[in-house]
Amino acid sequence: MSRRRALRLEDRIREVPDFPKKGILFRDITPLLMDGEAFGECVGRMAGLVRGKVDTVLSIESRGFIFGSALANRLGIGFIPIRKQGKLPHKTYRMEYELEYGTAAVEIHRDALKKGARVVIVDDVLATGGTMKAAVQLARKCGARVTSILFLIELAALGGRRKLRGYPVSTLITY
Ligand code: AMP
Repeated sequence: MSRRRALRLEDRIREVPDFPKKGILFRDITPLLMDGEAFGECVGRMAGLVRGKVDTVLSIESRGFIFGSALANRLGIGFIPIRKQGKLPHKTYRMEYELEYGTAAVEIHRDALKKGARVVIVDDVLATGGTMKAAVQLARKCGARVTSILFLIELAALGGRRKLRGYPVSTLITY
């Protein structure tokens, strides 16, 4: 096995207890991003899962953008941002959802996607699945087909996959 394949991505994830509030064990991805080899491995593995199967990459503000834009660039395809409420300048669709800590709304430009486009949606962490479910609904509202969903990390105990039933979900690290 080469040194590259032996790289354990989970060794680059830092656990921060009680952030952003008491009771949350926050998975900090910044040590992974700082390590060029680990970040490259991560994007390469994501690309390998969807290469040739998708037309566009969607991802969710803000940590999703780090992986989504790198992935789109690696695949040589376009990138579409799903942003927090009030940030996109043109006409949008909006979806409200519940977070592990709080509630929020996300938006997409109405003209961002072609009807029938095959999209992959990328985010850093699957917790309760509420954020990704809202993103899926936005993509579908635009007429796209969600053919793949990717996460760097899945927090399996929170059961987020149940909210995404019927969609192919892949994760690189499961806790
Ligand atoms: P959810 O909608 O519950 O699946 O939450 C997913 C979003 O919240 C992701 O975009 C993550 O960035 C963030 N998030 C939720 N829980 C955690 C956690 N324990 N550690 C790091 N990020 C988290």
